[in-house]
Amino acid sequence: MSIAENIRNLKNELETINVKLVAVSKTKPVEDIQQAYNEGQRVFGENMVQELVEKYEQLPKDIEWHLIGHLQTNKVKYIAPFISLIESVDSMKLLQEINKHALKNNRVIDVLLQVYIADEETKYGLGFDEVIELLRSDEFKELTNVRVRGLMGIATNTDNEKQIKEEFYELETFFEGIKQSYFRKDDYFNELSMGMSSDYKIAIEQGSTMVRLGSTIFGGRVIKHWKNN
Ligand SMILES: *Cc1c(COP(=O)(O)O)cnc(C)c1O
Repeated sequence: MSIAENIRNLKNELETINVKLVAVSKTKPVEDIQQAYNEGQRVFGENMVQELVEKYEQLPKDIEWHLIGHLQTNKVKYIAPFISLIESVDSMKLLQEINKHALKNNRVIDVLLQVYIADEETKYGLGFDEVIELLRSDEFKELTNVRVRGLMGIATNTDNEKQIKEEFYELETFFEGIKQSYFRKDDYFNELSMGMSSDYKIAIEQGSTMVRLGSTIFGGRVIKHWKNN
């Protein structure tokens, strides 16, 4: 199926249940993104800063860009002027750096805290207790120009659906607890980003508000630099 058809089908599937679609366009050329854009898709996710910035420069300015990959503090400045949501915040140091550059750009930057839920060593993210520690800290209270919109998590890359379901269930339960304890009056704390192509249906059953889909929309990825595709 074409990119346009994939977007249309996913919109039908997700809009009625009020789940946001982040089209993950990493490694894909701008022409592919433009096709999805022409079908009405406006939210795109990238995991590399340089690739994100180059695509931002070439594509329509009403696209909402999400960073979904690990962000190094020294690269925050490149995306701070335009990024819509940084989904992958995994330390206080990074949050402080985002706040600093948000101030410089005279804006508030929305973020999600990435929580580690997978049974794998390679994934980034904060542990449950680290999230609580961060939200309780005095440093956090001083951050005027970042807004924590919710949490993001990546389940274990496995065929075991029961395990994936349990990981998403745990994150959703944690999300509700965090909302009650730290954001009770803050309506903006309302995003739970979980689910990729292989597991988004399970994620939605477990309360996801935002799914990040790449291969389901754009086809499989070859691991090489996007410009050489
Ligand atoms: C690549 C990526 C996705 C999309 O993966 P697909 O399996 O292609 O849907 C989602 N989330 C993150 C964090 C990613 O890096």
